Amino acid sequence: MAVETTVLAGLEPRSFWAHFESLTRVPRPSRHEEPVIEHVRAWAAEHGFECREDTGRNLVIHVPATPGREEAPTVVLQGHLDMVCERDPASPNDPAEGRIALVRDGDWLKADGTTLGADDGVAIAAMMALAEDGSLPHGPLELLMTVAEEVGLEGANALDGSLVGGAILVNLDSEEDGKLTVGCAGSTDTWIRVEAPRAAAAPDAVTLAVTVSGGLGGHSGMNIEYGRSNALKVLGRVLREAHVTVPFRLVTLTGGKSRNAIPRDASAAVSVERGREAELRAAVETAAATVRDAFSKTDAGVSVAVTPADAAEEPWTDEGSVRLLDVLALVPTGPLAMSPDFEGLVETSTSLGEASTDGDRLTLHSLSRSSNDSAMPEVIATLDAAARLGGGELEVKHNYGGWRPNLDSPALAALRGSYERLFGDEPIVTAVHAGLETAVIGDKVQGLDMISFGPQIEAPHSPDERVSIPTVERFWRLLVAFVDELSKPGRED
Ligand SMILES: [Zn+2]
Repeated sequence: MAVETTVLAGLEPRSFWAHFESLTRVPRPSRHEEPVIEHVRAWAAEHGFECREDTGRNLVIHVPATPGREEAPTVVLQGHLDMVCERDPASPNDPAEGRIALVRDGDWLKADGTTLGADDGVAIAAMMALAEDGSLPHGPLELLMTVAEEVGLEGANALDGSLVGGAILVNLDSEEDGKLTVGCAGSTDTWIRVEAPRAAAAPDAVTLAVTVSGGLGGHSGMNIEYGRSNALKVLGRVLREAHVTVPFRLVTLTGGKSRNAIPRDASAAVSVERGREAELRAAVETAAATVRDAFSKTDAGVSVAVTPADAAEEPWTDEGSVRLLDVLALVPTGPLAMSPDFEGLVETSTSLGEASTDGDRLTLHSLSRSSNDSAMPEVIATLDAAARLGGGELEVKHNYGGWRPNLDSPALAALRGSYERLFGDEPIVTAVHAGLETAVIGDKVQGLDMISFGPQIEAPHSPDERVSIPTVERFWRLLVAFVDELSKPGRED
């Protein structure tokens, strides 16, 4: 296969870039992977590779070993077929319709006005190029191509684990050259639901809104150790402190837009005695000043405002208001334990992501993460205790277990060796405090020795997405050397 556009002319490895280019013309938005599934199936049929599909539409393609490597352990290469199809509104291009226009910018490859789909097109192209090249030695391979990764790892969640027969899994969805990833966090969603009675407001009461905004927010896993403010926790703290000097009753409390993000906005309506509005404003301002000071180095923009509001419904009672604020104070948010394997990496965390008011009920939704499954029960117990002390209850939804780093992994030793021989220096071995498909797959296929690496990809999921061309060649060479190493006769596992 050869590339067609001049943008990619002369780039090595040629067959990789040819496959990468043809993927730019195949629509593959999450949950609408049919065209790319057909594309891959046709390619597998052309090469005589057996292709299986589960009910979740994940593909497993069986590639026989090259001569002399038949006895080697089966290696699973894994990546996702779907991509995030973002575009500038003015762009004539649209990945969702198979229109990605490649642009060279020095050592970088990007797309004109859209996402590029290097995440995770590099994995699919690399698997196809490797499998069809008979000159590259490898043992039996299973190419596991998942769907709907970008929408909550849906494809991996639907994976039929019995389709995967290999003992080593190589995930090709990492985005940092020079790094080998050997662990990630599992996650559990929880909802604390507390009900409190409402009662008519005092006849002369006025309603005010207390609103927190201006924080940096960020990813609730990857950014949890940065010490940024959580708007819901700031709101709870300011309200509790103000309540000491100016009693009020809560009407509503809401905030956060996603379980997966640190909340940047939160707001409460409060009912206060007429004539004491100025006092309440002053008390809120005093509390807010302490909060700003607390975050002066990590999240200096956080601010609190008090504005007039409509009395939408009756406020919760005095007792109820205090109890709800107590529960909010008890809900932990932030890092809870650091990794024993990697300096500076969070092992366990929890993030309060969303609050909502529905009738008499306040709901607080948290997302807790850990790479160490044994750490999770204590986190859940804390949230459960907060719920029950507040007279409410906890709903728990376990998503998937963590991928706990194994620094004694044979695959890691082999990959490290290949890396050092090829590049003459040591790779960085690390883990991430976020969910990867490997965690879900590892839950379904017990005992897999897993590792992840990839080329340098920046700004994925945005029209600024770009991949570093020289690191693609390094990625390719490492992959080729690794499957060779893993299949060498007499290699000890
Ligand atoms: Zn990806």
